[in-house]
Amino acid sequence: MYDVIIIGGGPAGMSAAIYTARARLKTLLIEKAGCGGQIAITDHLENYPGFEEGINGFELAVKMQKQAESFGTEIVYGEVLKIDTTTQTETQTSTQTAARTKKVILKNNKEYEAKTVIIASGANAKKSGVSGEKEFTGKGVSYCATCDGPFFKNKEIAVIGGGDSALQEALYLTKFASKVNLIHRRNEFRAAKILQEKVFKETKINIIYDSVVEEIAGNPLGSVESIKLKNVKNDAVLTLSVNGVFVFIGWQPNTEFLKNTKIKLNGNGYIVTDENMKTSVEGVFACGDVRQKILRQVVTACGDGAVAAISVEHYLENL
Ligand code: NAP
Repeated sequence: MYDVIIIGGGPAGMSAAIYTARARLKTLLIEKAGCGGQIAITDHLENYPGFEEGINGFELAVKMQKQAESFGTEIVYGEVLKIDTTTQTETQTSTQTAARTKKVILKNNKEYEAKTVIIASGANAKKSGVSGEKEFTGKGVSYCATCDGPFFKNKEIAVIGGGDSALQEALYLTKFASKVNLIHRRNEFRAAKILQEKVFKETKINIIYDSVVEEIAGNPLGSVESIKLKNVKNDAVLTLSVNGVFVFIGWQPNTEFLKNTKIKLNGNGYIVTDENMKTSVEGVFACGDVRQKILRQVVTACGDGAVAAISVEHYLENL
């Protein structure tokens, strides 16, 4: 029996673990693949305080994991299938302690029990849904510049999106590609101004505004050769020869495993919490990108994680 199970090993989950483990709560962190979440596939973070020259995302993730483990956090790897938050009070069968037990069930059939759960499962890259995207994923279509950028040395590529991710990753990809076509559906980026300034100055980046990708095409061996673009203002169609397509059009929350619970989600699937990270189910907390909020940054994920941990502590004190 753990005091707290944390689902997800991104910055939110690891910050929560640092705090709960330091509070001497028996802490289990469950991570699907490798700790770090989105930062593990981010080349350079320049707005996380304390690193004036910026820091590589994977390096920061490793530091966070080591810090969480140094205070006694146990980490297991596996994908969560579902959580059972049904309190025995509802079924009127057991003692008060058992009454508040939550069960986390993994896809490999392993089950873990805790008095509280913190959901920090983050978000996954959104798919564009255009023809050819699925077929060429891993064969030219990518959602991770750090992982796949080096495959496009001296090649022409496209980046789709106009947010922080698209601009930041387009800049990173200029290290490898001969030309980066940055395709955005409007004529104005939503990315931070500092990133926009860098992009405007970068001669390897060719900005194509007001355009959407309609098709990703390739050869029978299965690698991307071109994309078809449509200008949304005048319907003009353009075919661009590219070997890679990087899609950075936002994220969707990892809340699929909550569908059988009473945890309240908003219309886009994000978990609704109060400012203390409490969800609509007693003893269940949520933090980081999986939560409904206005700013999704590493620094806000870490802040959320700390608040969730303190809320768990208070909840357990009052059990
Ligand atoms: P985002 O801010 O939601 O931006 C998504 C971009 O993709 C928007 O420009 C959007 O266009 C476009 N888009 C959405 N759906 C599309 C579709 N179907 N087809 C074509 N384009 C589409 O996502 P993000 O850039 O991944 O950022 C997510 C969060 O992480 C943000 O809060 C961001 O600030 C944060 N982040 C921060 C940093 C940093 O601080 N360095 C780095 C990365 C991410 P519209 O603009 O027209 O809606």
